[in-house]
Amino acid sequence: MFCMIVGVVMRIIFHSDLNNFYASVECLYNPSIRNDAVVVVGDAEKRHGIVLAKNGLAKKYGIKTGDTIWEAQQKCPTKLTKVVARFDLYRKVSKIVKDIYREYSDRVESFGIDEAWIDVSERVSNFEDAYNLAEEIRKRIITEVGLTVSIGVSFNKIFAKLGSDLKKPNAVSVITPTNFKQVVWPLKCEDLLMVGHSTKAKLIKNNIKTIGDIARAGKNFLKQILGKNGEKLFDFATGKECSEVQKVGQHDEIKSIGNSTTCARNLTNINEVRAVLYVLAESVANRMREVNLWASCVAVSFKTEQLETFERQQKLDYPTNLAEVIGHVALDLFKCNYNWEYQIRSLGVRVLNLCDEPLQYNIFNDAQTILKKDKLERIVDSLRGRFGYGVIRRACILKDDMLVDLNPQDASHKIHPKSFIY
Ligand SMILES: [Mg+2]
Repeated sequence: MFCMIVGVVMRIIFHSDLNNFYASVECLYNPSIRNDAVVVVGDAEKRHGIVLAKNGLAKKYGIKTGDTIWEAQQKCPTKLTKVVARFDLYRKVSKIVKDIYREYSDRVESFGIDEAWIDVSERVSNFEDAYNLAEEIRKRIITEVGLTVSIGVSFNKIFAKLGSDLKKPNAVSVITPTNFKQVVWPLKCEDLLMVGHSTKAKLIKNNIKTIGDIARAGKNFLKQILGKNGEKLFDFATGKECSEVQKVGQHDEIKSIGNSTTCARNLTNINEVRAVLYVLAESVANRMREVNLWASCVAVSFKTEQLETFERQQKLDYPTNLAEVIGHVALDLFKCNYNWEYQIRSLGVRVLNLCDEPLQYNIFNDAQTILKKDKLERIVDSLRGRFGYGVIRRACILKDDMLVDLNPQDASHKIHPKSFIY
């Protein structure tokens, strides 16, 4: 592990982000729409789908990802060009771009379909050379692929990612150990990776508004208000974050994400099992969204009152991080593999075959529905982050006094593994 100890090893890391990726690919393949406001939408037939991506011009009209097509139309009444998402094409283009990154390093780590970290420490050892190398990559992607990227250059992954957000589109930004206090510290706290709604709310309550405020608050105070995450945020803000960029092909240290529970009393029927499995599925899905992973296999495990244990797995047609899908598959697996000879003492849900590029579904899958559900589950995540787990519960849980208190996030449950990026 290379750590940021001055005078020992200085890493140089890029974070490259394709600008307006889906919309840019559509404009690339269809030059006649290049001067239009373009939105990429999810569904061909229904026409009332949602905006998955937009180009710069559409952005100028205030159109946002997640808007309904109707809303987008209101914001840009004159000429809005709508195209239906072609995920297979985006994946192909993403691979072409990432293959270019891989010419520069064996450490290229995807962060979604359009972003990647590249550790170029073995090629360059100072920021001037690093800037020139980033410029070379930026220009190659324009000339060889026809797309623009924003690249952040820095000495850790967090600042590299922040750097790629500084200038858009088509630019390189450098954040060094000597300039980060001027460049990074005035930025809003939520610009830092991992500062979501609930963390931001807690920070603002304590008058911590910028990344510099986070650094100045000190590790101990942040720990008091945010727990362990507070310590991590302090490291992020002060440039001490030192996780590695994963090697090509070296997949996640995370092989699976799971949660299990021994119930307060034995379960005696399928409705009770359903309720518990969905709660577990929700906590697993929430964890997956936090670490930006999708899974294409679901496993259910259960122990009977006789302490016999079973585990059954099912592959999925495409990767998911939706609780609804995971819960449904887990329940099906349970139903197909258990005949209720004995009562059930404990249950577990686990996902495996993890990947960090979710859009492997082909054009026949209903991308629009998937995105809507994803949006909904993220809203639930954020509400629970702000108001506690109990603020929203599935109807099937509320019917049962014992299950109503089941909180998959309390200390007695282990959502494992705990960590991805650190
Ligand atoms: Mg992007």
